[in-house]
Amino acid sequence: MRHLVSGAAGFIGSHLCDRLLADGGEVVGLDNLITGSERNIEHLESKAKFSFRKFDVTKPIAEPGKFDHVWHLASLASPKFYLAYPIETLESGSTGTRNMLEIARRDGARFLVTSTSECYGDPLEHPQVETYWGNVNPVGLRSCYDESKRYSEAVTMAYHRTHGVRTNIARIFNTYGPRMALDDGRVVPAFLDQALRSQPLTVFGDGSQTRSFCYVSDMVEGLVRLANSEERLPVNLGNPVELTILEFAERIQRLMGIKAPIVHQPLPSDDPKRRQPNIAKAKKVLGWEPKVNLEDGLRETVAYFKSRLTPA
Ligand code: UDP
Repeated sequence: MRHLVSGAAGFIGSHLCDRLLADGGEVVGLDNLITGSERNIEHLESKAKFSFRKFDVTKPIAEPGKFDHVWHLASLASPKFYLAYPIETLESGSTGTRNMLEIARRDGARFLVTSTSECYGDPLEHPQVETYWGNVNPVGLRSCYDESKRYSEAVTMAYHRTHGVRTNIARIFNTYGPRMALDDGRVVPAFLDQALRSQPLTVFGDGSQTRSFCYVSDMVEGLVRLANSEERLPVNLGNPVELTILEFAERIQRLMGIKAPIVHQPLPSDDPKRRQPNIAKAKKVLGWEPKVNLEDGLRETVAYFKSRLTPA
């Protein structure tokens, strides 16, 4: 199998490259490195079956085929970065998705796009099931991310229905693990970075908003299973164990044995109040559910963050 992976130097993208290579595939990775890092793939440099190009997939892609599988993961997934780069975010979800779909159409390849739980916006249904259409503010600060991902789902379905491309749509819920950037801004790296530096943990708002955290190896397994399935409509992938952000901060304190205080900062606008995936569809269609519990996943992530903070 020959794979084209956008966002290959990103957090989930680099783990997906590892997995596809471990399964015997050949991988061509693309990334414009706006949020990805070559450090995430430096261990792949010597592998004959891996090649990397610094490339922005919002530009027409001339990558010679033939590919069997096209994976579009390129995206600015952290609120900190998509708020800083709203136009690039809109472009990677819209033009980027279309350009990657064109390669799949050209080569008769399978296509998988990573969409997001943000398609549900600040959800009025809980937990979120794939048939819920969401509650998205189309002109709010997060709309650059939410609406471009909703467009990416729409254009993917259109290529499937119009051109018969064999497509899959993964709606990814909060995912964490090694290779997240320390300055990523999302809550897992933010709290771990703060705890390791003995800084206060910054809880936004009163911390009553909830999230559910999925470890990256579970996510990659879900993506691979989805890509090999016959399911064309979106499938939620995430860990259904729901926590308030305040509880999450307290877990980090306990896990790391620290007394770092919690400080409250203003809640960002349109920050979803509750988020938890309903994964009944993934269980039924893919036989998939997360295996790594939060403590084990966080231990691996802390070890990674420590190694990044301590110069070798
Ligand atoms: N959050 C927080 N402190 C931080 C970073 C994030 O309290 O330093 C909160 C944020 O307001 C949100 C949740 O943690 O309610 C998850 O935020 P994240 O940026 O990880 O991703 P989101 O789920 O909002 O896309």
